[in-house]
Amino acid sequence: QIQDSKGKALCNIRVFCRCRPLSKEEIAAGCATIVDFDAGKDGDLEVLTGASARKTYKFDRVYSPRDNQVDVFADASPMVISVLDGYNVCIFAYGQTGTGKTFTMEGTEQNRGVNYRTLEKLFEIANERSETFTYSISVSALEVYNEHIRDLLATSPASKQLEIKQSSEGSHHVPGIVEAKVNNIKEVWNVLQVGSNARVVGSNNVNEHSSRSHWYQALVLFPDFSLIPKNLMNNECTKSKLWLVDLAGSERLAKTDVQGERLKEAQNINRSLSALGDVIYALATKSSHIPYSPSEKDLNETLSSLNFATRVR
Ligand code: ADP
Ligand code: MG
Repeated sequence: QIQDSKGKALCNIRVFCRCRPLSKEEIAAGCATIVDFDAGKDGDLEVLTGASARKTYKFDRVYSPRDNQVDVFADASPMVISVLDGYNVCIFAYGQTGTGKTFTMEGTEQNRGVNYRTLEKLFEIANERSETFTYSISVSALEVYNEHIRDLLATSPASKQLEIKQSSEGSHHVPGIVEAKVNNIKEVWNVLQVGSNARVVGSNNVNEHSSRSHWYQALVLFPDFSLIPKNLMNNECTKSKLWLVDLAGSERLAKTDVQGERLKEAQNINRSLSALGDVIYALATKSSHIPYSPSEKDLNETLSSLNFATRVR
């Protein structure tokens, strides 16, 4: 049984909830916070839904604005061992635009997120195990935008449309996608920079937060690592995959707000996210990273993200 940083036994699907601090703009606009971290016990969070109404949500862990990237990674790091042991792992961030999905997954140069820390750890453990295992590691990066898969590492546009296929063993792969072999964290980082720059919307695009431009955000599956661990004692090979996913914003769209391309884009995003909710619900137990926004103006989106997260537990 795998255990978390505090020795708690872990389930197949884990849900963590991270709340970012109120932004300068939110503070300047006089927004109050609707989230209370100190009322419940560890893993509980209370949302102030009205003048004297509160709703409690339960998670595997809750990160308050006081928690940093290292605190968050402490719970992601056991999954590195799982993937090196041959299990498939998917870590994804769900939430409204502006809640910190990209900050959590990608982070910044000074404040690196789950993606970088996961890979650093992956190579570290792979090296420690080098006497008993060899690992062949490759990386792909893809983006789903308007129901089309884009290969972010392709140097020329794909000649035919890429599709996600399920293999007979039940794993998922995208035939024809570029799989870049990587030997160390530095090589991975270089590959990811190429992928990040090729995204429809730059992940650090400041305009993402201006009124409507965030609707250009795409559903991103990014990146996808394939590992082939080989046990040198018995020559057994297994295959595993690690998916690190920065999802599109989960906010619902009022039909009157947008038209044309943006409407189509938002509808595709909504459809994908609700399909994702159904899949996770079907998987039953527990899930991943569910950020939300703490400001009162976003109460409804926050409740909707929390309800999504609770539904999967
Ligand atoms: P999303 O990807 O969900 O749209 P971002 O990751 O771009 O949101 O975050 C929105 C803004 O909030 C960014 O300026 C980001 O740097 C900041 N931010 C997000 N989470 C945190 C955090 N935990 N601490 C400090 N700043 C954060
Ligand atoms: Mg983002």
